Amino acid sequence: MIKESLQKAINEQIVREMYSSNLYLSMAAYYAATNLNGFSNWMRVQAEEELTHALKFFDYVIDRGGKVELGAIPAPEIKWNNSIKPFEDAYEHEQKVTGWINGLLDLAYQEKDYATISFLNWFIDEQVEEEKNTSEILDKLHLAGESKASLFLLDNELKTRTVSPAATSSAAAN
Ligand code: MG
Repeated sequence: MIKESLQKAINEQIVREMYSSNLYLSMAAYYAATNLNGFSNWMRVQAEEELTHALKFFDYVIDRGGKVELGAIPAPEIKWNNSIKPFEDAYEHEQKVTGWINGLLDLAYQEKDYATISFLNWFIDEQVEEEKNTSEILDKLHLAGESKASLFLLDNELKTRTVSPAATSSAAAN
C-alpha cells in the first residue's frame, strides 16, 4: 500500500503530466497555424508522450493499492510571439518537470518507499532525455536565426519524429 503523502504527490504529478501534454498540444496548434508542420509534429508527439507519463503514474498508484484523485488541469498558453519561443518555454518547462520529479524522489526517500524510488528512476532518466532533446532543438533554432532556409530544413527534420515504441510499451507494461 502506498503512503498517503506519496499518493497525494503522485496524484498532483498526474495532473502536471496532463498539463504538459496540453501545453505541447497547444504549441503543436501554434506551429500548425504558422505552417511549420514539422515543428507541429514534434510537439504533437511530445504531447502524446506526456500523456503516457500521466498514465504510467496513474497505473502505479492503482498497482500499489492507492486511489487516483485528479484535480483541475490549468489552461496552457495559447500564443507565442515567434517560432523560437515555444521551444524556449519547452526547455524551461522540462527543467521545472525535472524539479518536480526530484521532489517526488526526495519524498520517497523520506518515506523509505523503495518501490517508489525504483519506479521514479525511469522518470529521472527520462528527464535527462527531455532536457537534452528540447535544448538541442532550441540551440538549432538559435543557430538558424533569421535564415528561412535553415528553419525550413529543421522543420523537415522534425517531421520524422514518431511516438517511440518504448514510451508506449512501457506505459502499457506498467
Ligand atoms: Mg513528462
